[in-house]
Amino acid sequence: MVKDPEAPESREILRRAARILKSGGLVVFPTETVYGLGADATDSDAAGRIYAAKGRPADNPLIVHVASADDVSRYAVETEESRRLMQVFWPGPLTVVLPARETIPSTVTAGLPTVAIRCPSHPVARALLMEVGIPIAAPSANLSGSPSPTCARHVADDMMGRVDMILDGGDCEIGLESTIVMPDKDGGLTLLRPGAVTPEMLRTVTPKLRIAEAVLGQLPEGNAPLSPGMKYRHYAPSSPLVLLDGDCHARQHYIEKQSGNIAIIGYEEDLPLLRRSLTEERLFSLGRQQDLSMQSHRLFTLLRDIDKQGFDKILAPLPPTGGMGMALYNRMIRAAAHCIVHLPKD
Ligand code: AMP
Ligand code: MG
Repeated sequence: MVKDPEAPESREILRRAARILKSGGLVVFPTETVYGLGADATDSDAAGRIYAAKGRPADNPLIVHVASADDVSRYAVETEESRRLMQVFWPGPLTVVLPARETIPSTVTAGLPTVAIRCPSHPVARALLMEVGIPIAAPSANLSGSPSPTCARHVADDMMGRVDMILDGGDCEIGLESTIVMPDKDGGLTLLRPGAVTPEMLRTVTPKLRIAEAVLGQLPEGNAPLSPGMKYRHYAPSSPLVLLDGDCHARQHYIEKQSGNIAIIGYEEDLPLLRRSLTEERLFSLGRQQDLSMQSHRLFTLLRDIDKQGFDKILAPLPPTGGMGMALYNRMIRAAAHCIVHLPKD
């Protein structure tokens, strides 16, 4: 466990992690979003090991993590817009997609002409990046297709024996992956994946913000999304998840009519009502309805825990799309393979 990166025992662990990375190995580390599965981003073979460990499709590129915005120009071609974004949101949960330089091998970019770059704020991630002195390519540290890990237990469940080291930094504060944006040629910005840096926050820096089609909907068959990861049925539990679009009473009415071994994810406020007709073991709280940060923090843990219990189906509320809701909505429609039931309104 690396709690205080400055403590001598932690320094020694970080030095060991840096040695592994420099010799082409894989190190899992905590970030403020989710745990990352890291390798030297300038070493094609090392990056290749990430795909093998995760079972990740070769056409799904990795995010390159850097210690500071000053390092970006070595790996990517910056724009005025990207510099402003980095000034405001780095270190933090924002990834910027920019034209790649030749220092980044095509294994990392999956052959795209662009590279995704982020400077994380988590103290352990920062200390590791400073210690190693090279950029770290790191996607989420889960097996491909399962929910991103938000604590070391999730990582161990998926990755034990597949990586050289796991740094345990406790629970990830945000719990959903970073926001991904791509500056456009006209000075605007396209949102490729929503996260804790919300559209409202991005618009304070770049008013011209487009939302990529795949963020809130399903792309027609055969269309390539701007962010390759968006085409996969990501974050998915093995029991089918169905999202209910309706208020608390409409959801309760629908849930009461269901039969079988079904798990119910509800808002904290819904639970007293649901407890009248359902047993405790089937009820899971996502957090209070207005507390989107708590819901984001809990979502992947909840999906993993529910999955272990082998329910036939999972029912959950469809999140709103405002603020941090857009990130939750995006992950949940993917986890549900776009299965939404629109309930009658009063
Ligand atoms: P993960 O960290 O596991 O969420 O994976 C990184 C995500 O970043 C993938 O889903 C990719 O779609 C996205 N990404 C990485 N590089 C690029 C890029 N050059 N252009 C667009 N999206 C990217
Ligand atoms: Mg991932």
